[in-house]
Amino acid sequence: MVLRVQKYGGTSVATIDNIQKIAKKVADDYSKGDDFVIIVSAMGDTTDDLINLAKQISDDLDLREMDKLLSTGESVSSALLAMSFHNLGIEALSLTGAQAGIHTDSFFSRASISDIEPSRIIREIEQRKIVVVAGFQGIDGDEELTTLGRGGSDTTAVGIAAAMDADICEIYTDVEGVYQADPRLIPNVNRIDEISYEEMLELSSEGAKVIHSRAVELALLNETPIFVGSTFSDNRSGTLIQGSIDMESSNKVRGITHDRNVARVTVSGVPDVPGIAAKIFAPLADYGISVDIIVQNTGHDGYSDMSFTVTQDSLDSTLVYVKDLAAELGANEVTGDSSLAKVSIVGAGLQNSPGYAGTMFKALNDAGVNIEMITTAEISITCVIKQDSVEAAVKALNKAFLVNNSNP
Ligand code: ADP
Ligand code: ASP
Ligand code: MG
Repeated sequence: MVLRVQKYGGTSVATIDNIQKIAKKVADDYSKGDDFVIIVSAMGDTTDDLINLAKQISDDLDLREMDKLLSTGESVSSALLAMSFHNLGIEALSLTGAQAGIHTDSFFSRASISDIEPSRIIREIEQRKIVVVAGFQGIDGDEELTTLGRGGSDTTAVGIAAAMDADICEIYTDVEGVYQADPRLIPNVNRIDEISYEEMLELSSEGAKVIHSRAVELALLNETPIFVGSTFSDNRSGTLIQGSIDMESSNKVRGITHDRNVARVTVSGVPDVPGIAAKIFAPLADYGISVDIIVQNTGHDGYSDMSFTVTQDSLDSTLVYVKDLAAELGANEVTGDSSLAKVSIVGAGLQNSPGYAGTMFKALNDAGVNIEMITTAEISITCVIKQDSVEAAVKALNKAFLVNNSNP
């Protein structure tokens, strides 16, 4: 018997009509004998709407209560999908993350799954029920509700697929798979039919939000194959994420990503003595703030400047911590800039070829895009740019690497 774990995203479950269409589609396959666990996101913009409701009360929101609030979105859609199955005469039930055995750490609003205990799901499946699980949520060791960070329903799906050793984890969304760039920015861009976990992980960590990067990480660890496809397209094609990089066939740029959620913190006039970086960054890690790109200028007259990026929603809290620290360390000034974004090129071929960086910088320069920071990793090169240059930058990189194929 084939066990399929499927996840339907926010746009896919935005209306009752859509939810009923999904039930019908799953029912057809269920009648052929496959077992199903279905993970759903909240309907449409529900999560944003709930955040906006809370913001009417305070700007400084209690994260525990926020998780309690936001987890309701997925509870609603999961119950509605279960009812839609009942309407078709199929036995089904919805479960919250906690009921589904999803245990997490205690970082409210960005919890990580620590383990999944799927015995309840297994019991229900054994009775041929379709189990619908509310995505994006879990429960910590103190029985507090937690959420997994924006886009986290993908991670719920892969986590459950891995815990149950499912044959496949299918992520259904509003585009027909993973493309070489965001199809909303570059309409004619090619789809990627098959991609390794490593390349997909780099694409999603650098901003391709079609799948949550932690979902890919979990899939890589557990070797869970993922299919990404469109919820309502009759065309059953999409992208298969599995296996490792094939060096021979991937000697080029696989994708271009952008991320508009970038803020920079600059600490100027930091005393240039050993141990300063640890004093700044170790406490940030303890506060759960994740730092992406770090650049330290060469010291002069015993002082240097340090810049690093965080997500825009963590800028305010980062500035509070860093201003306190800077005063202790004797640094001059701390400034923040939330008008930034990043663009990246990703591909296994970047590993051994020095020419990609030059081609990338030239393409951005020719398009009038100013580069604020640069960072390179094994299979990617990333430039921090102004947010209002994102479209021009992605188009320029598309032209250089995907259309003209000017790979070095
Ligand atoms: P869901 O609500 O189904 O989880 P998301 O909005 O999180 O959907 O992700 C799907 C969106 O990801 C698409 O609508 C698309 O605009 C965006 N996206 C960004 N980069 C890519 C890419 N490389 N390939 C496909 N989609 C991408
Ligand atoms: N509803 C959550 C969000 O909007 C989780 C998800 O959709 O994956 O981020
Ligand atoms: Mg998503």
